[in-house]
Amino acid sequence: MNFPPRTLRPQPVDPIASTGICAAAGGPCLQENCGLLAEYATDLICRLDAQGRLLWVSPASRALLGHDPAQLPGRFLSDLLYVNDRDRLQAALRHPQAAAQRLSFRMQRADQSLVWVESSLLVRGPEHGADIICVTRDISEHRRITDDLGRMARQDSLTGLPNRLRLTERIDASILRASRNGEMFALVLFDIDHFKFVNDTLGHDTGDALLCEIGTRLQRVLREPDVLTRWGGDEFVLLVSRIAEPAEAVQLAQACLKALAAPFLVQHRRLHLGACAGIAIYPRDGKSQTELLRNADLAMYRAKEQGPGDVVAFSAELAQRAQLRLSIENDLHEALRLQAFELRYQPIIDAKAGRMGGVEALLRWRHGEHMIAPDVFIPVAEESGLIVPLGRWVLQEACRYAHDLIGAGLTPPNFYVSVNVSARQFREADFPSLVAACLRQTGLAPHQLQLELTESAIMTSPELATRTLQAIRELGVQIAIDDFGTGYSSLAYLARFPAHGLKIDKSFVDGMTQGGAGLAIVSATVAIAHALGMIITAEGVETTAQRDALTLAGCQRLQGYLFDRPLTGEELRHRLDTACRAPDSVAQPAPA
Ligand code: C2E
Ligand code: CA
Ligand code: CA
Repeated sequence: MNFPPRTLRPQPVDPIASTGICAAAGGPCLQENCGLLAEYATDLICRLDAQGRLLWVSPASRALLGHDPAQLPGRFLSDLLYVNDRDRLQAALRHPQAAAQRLSFRMQRADQSLVWVESSLLVRGPEHGADIICVTRDISEHRRITDDLGRMARQDSLTGLPNRLRLTERIDASILRASRNGEMFALVLFDIDHFKFVNDTLGHDTGDALLCEIGTRLQRVLREPDVLTRWGGDEFVLLVSRIAEPAEAVQLAQACLKALAAPFLVQHRRLHLGACAGIAIYPRDGKSQTELLRNADLAMYRAKEQGPGDVVAFSAELAQRAQLRLSIENDLHEALRLQAFELRYQPIIDAKAGRMGGVEALLRWRHGEHMIAPDVFIPVAEESGLIVPLGRWVLQEACRYAHDLIGAGLTPPNFYVSVNVSARQFREADFPSLVAACLRQTGLAPHQLQLELTESAIMTSPELATRTLQAIRELGVQIAIDDFGTGYSSLAYLARFPAHGLKIDKSFVDGMTQGGAGLAIVSATVAIAHALGMIITAEGVETTAQRDALTLAGCQRLQGYLFDRPLTGEELRHRLDTACRAPDSVAQPAPA
């Protein structure tokens, strides 16, 4: 046999092969027949009697354990093991198996340090004196790597916090313990407002630094056994162990939000972030991990709707709302198939001329006897993606109807129809070509169509939005930013978006005549928008005082119940018809 020189790492000895050699040679002893092989192996090879007593030990015991191989025969192998791991070896020896058995355990070196090893044990038949061949290999490096990988797989690389995998393990363990001991625990989901905006506008480095700081601040509030994890993106989940009552979790969540309320100093910038939290309690709000996470998520969504700084605990009422949402979603599918939607048209008044200049198309859902308002179903349609086909229908129908009215000679010059576009629709890659196709099919001139987009629809992805807006603008279609004042209200951003107009939200308009800074805010917004060459429309004008103040502040267009509620197509046609017959009539407040 040719053995490799000592400097090369010899292949590990397979005890089965070794016994084969011994058996083939007919010799009773490994030492006699395979001594050379055993001597070359870096693995530790031993021969034991049936009780686990060492009969022979290869020289590798020196390198692996720091023991002289000559000193070991007569001792029990288990004496060389770390005390907690001895039982496993003894159990294996008590129940010998025909095939080689693999065990991993820790051995104690002569200097008392521990080393992780893996041993293969092969029990030989009575012809060999029922002895046992044990081949042992150092696996400490392998264990270290596996442990590191395990830790890394359970850790968020950015914040160093435990991650989703770790949390799910901890929730399972908490469920087990709490169910056994009749305890309660809570899951708290945090959502950070405007994080995406910060990330997109100030860059990912700032976003990353912010996430780390959020993690640090939250951790400072927590108690020792609580586990804070980064669930992904800007979502953090807290596992509050062992609470005496649900209010404890609410208080802790509030303390966390308070910690996030102070401004953040990130890369020499001062940033204010809002956050909200949703809570689910075990076992009250769910007995399984999925149920608890889902219900905490529902509560978090509710908190988000209510505004920054809010903490919402899951409740039966929330579950009902979710149920209602689900049934709306199902009904929406059916309604789309049955074409159960209608458009209303709310006149938009040209402030200077005092008469209708265009209309905004507003969607309604005919549901049995009732007309359902869009606030109820648009968010569901958005979430489910149904808004895409629905929005396509709105666009088509509004263009078709406006073209009809124009063709009938009923409209004032430069009459336009304004159509709401949801964030989801706007993000569709082919949105500009959809608009172009719609204009082609209906024959409406591009400048007679205006698209309304909310700030948040634009802000969720400013770069993409800018490109899409540019493509729409190139078609010759007008663009207005809707609900200005409810979202980011970033005047700096306004300059970057190729929009023609701005619609000031009703809440601003209401604020104007209620004293305080409302009027100053509207005047300043109008001044800046004018400087950018934008046309301002004020929404939700309900009183003559508002109309006058807005006109004075420089708003060119006015819309609201003061002039008209949203009209059916027929009502609009009638209204235009009447106006045509009395061309000098000025828009008057609608009769009460
Ligand atoms: P919006 O775009 O801000 O539309 C204005 C809303 O304010 C309309 O409610 C309108 O009826 C109401 N409004 C108008 N004047 C007044 C007033 O003087 N006082 C009060 N209190 N309210 C007034 P509506 O029709 O219920 O629509 C609600 C929202 O639903 C719209 O808000 C818009 O965001 C969305 N929406 C409506 N139609 C569509 C659509 O076709 N597609 C999309 N994506 N969203 C739509
Ligand atoms: Ca609108
Ligand atoms: Ca609006």
